[in-house]
Amino acid sequence: MARTAPLDAAWTNWAGNQRSTATAVLRPRTVADVAEAVRAAVAAGARIRPVGSGHSFTAVARADDRRMELTDLDTEVRIDRDRHLVTVPAGMPLRRLNALLAANGLAMPNLGDIDAQTIAGAISTGTHGTGAAYGCLSTFVEALTLVTGTGEVLRCSAGEHPDVFAAARVSLGALGVLTDVTLRVVDAFVLRAHERPAPLAEVLAGLPDLVAGHDHFEFYWFPYTDRVQVKTNDRVPADNRPLPRWRGWLDDEFLSNTVLGGACRLGRAAPGLVPAISAVSARALTERTYTGRSDTVFCTPRRVRFTEMEYALPRAALPEALAAVRRIVDGLPFKVQFPVEVRFTAADDIWLSHGYGRDSAYLAVHQYVGRPYEPYFRAVEEVAADLGGRPHWGKLHWRDAESLAPAYPRFADFQRLRTRLDPNGIFTSPHLTTVLGH
Ligand SMILES: Cc1cc2nc3c(=O)[nH]c(=O)nc-3n(C[C@H](O)[C@H](O)[C@H](O)COP(=O)(O)OP(=O)(O)OC[C@H]3O[C@@H](n4cnc5c(N)ncnc54)[C@H](O)[C@@H]3O)c2cc1C
Repeated sequence: MARTAPLDAAWTNWAGNQRSTATAVLRPRTVADVAEAVRAAVAAGARIRPVGSGHSFTAVARADDRRMELTDLDTEVRIDRDRHLVTVPAGMPLRRLNALLAANGLAMPNLGDIDAQTIAGAISTGTHGTGAAYGCLSTFVEALTLVTGTGEVLRCSAGEHPDVFAAARVSLGALGVLTDVTLRVVDAFVLRAHERPAPLAEVLAGLPDLVAGHDHFEFYWFPYTDRVQVKTNDRVPADNRPLPRWRGWLDDEFLSNTVLGGACRLGRAAPGLVPAISAVSARALTERTYTGRSDTVFCTPRRVRFTEMEYALPRAALPEALAAVRRIVDGLPFKVQFPVEVRFTAADDIWLSHGYGRDSAYLAVHQYVGRPYEPYFRAVEEVAADLGGRPHWGKLHWRDAESLAPAYPRFADFQRLRTRLDPNGIFTSPHLTTVLGH
């Protein structure tokens, strides 16, 4: 196993707001290497933090001791096309997984906005997309292999170690190292995307129908305006007449990245212009329809860096939360330069999933990197917490274990399981102590 320090010990996350320098970087090649590294850490009284591709905004992946990267862990890839099951190394990036599935006529049932995360990283924080009938990505996990804090290798599924399975699918890396994951996938499919600007009031009035009437529905509200951009993705037969993503460069690359970046820089230089920029952006995005392979429609590049907080709310609480966000934005001493994203997911039974036991509406607030965000996010957090919201584990928030416990009915069970699987606390970190307790 490669074990290096200190040359590549420095680490920073995608947004650049989390940094750390590890005492060692571990790159196991086999599951036995992982178990050996765990036993060595126990013997040395050290800690290990498994990391993915660093796309979390919180310190959840910040290693204050040994950092373990799963990029070289080469477990067997198994594809059972008939049963729609694929087993892949846990450190595989979603982008590679999507390509592998497509090459075999398969696809993930749903995805989030990007494909840069690793599978383990994505499921460990409850990463999700949108779609009333779809839970977060962890709900597609049929089985997983976990190396616990004693070096034991556990294969878990609904039938084997069901309690570990219920916890380890969203575990913040607190229970051990995921080495492989079996996913339930679907036949490859094509999505018809429809994007259109609309008044916020119209969307809120028709919300139940929009959410139920599309496979995948979301919208972006532009601060300082009453306008939103609605995005729906619906499954269509693969032989459906393909509609190219024309103006793709304009809308995806130019409006979503280049122009957005320029608008953000302009707003940073002249904050008074932000409301006008927001209004122009809301108007500049026009209606378009296109079709494409599912993962290429779900995921798009994000080149403009930002910081983000996202809350999962009981669905019925969304209008109240949005009204409060509008008041908060208007009252801030600085301007908000990014749209607010709203998505929907189905309930699941994973102990620390944001969607545990209830259908959710996700409300995500962003700010251009380098711009003030904390008063904004904290004010939104106060509202979201009062409405029973659960913060995304990978996105900024200020909740601690005491305040999170009542939001998760199985929180105490997770804590007990954590003590059982990691009795020496080798997978803990200051951040995990804050959000999960000791
Ligand atoms: C531009 C951008 C867009 C995003 N879009 C979305 C979105 O659409 N939907 C959404 O829900 N989220 C989204 N996110 C958040 C992102 O999906 C999560 O933060 C995710 O956890 C990042 O995965 P990662 O591979 O970078 O993991 P990291 O951030 O590196 O790690 C995340 C967690 O996984 C743990 N972990 C990693 N590997 C292992 C392992 N092998 N075993 C055990 N634990 C492990 C880490 O310890 C840590 O707790 C976005 C983030 C960014 C920056």
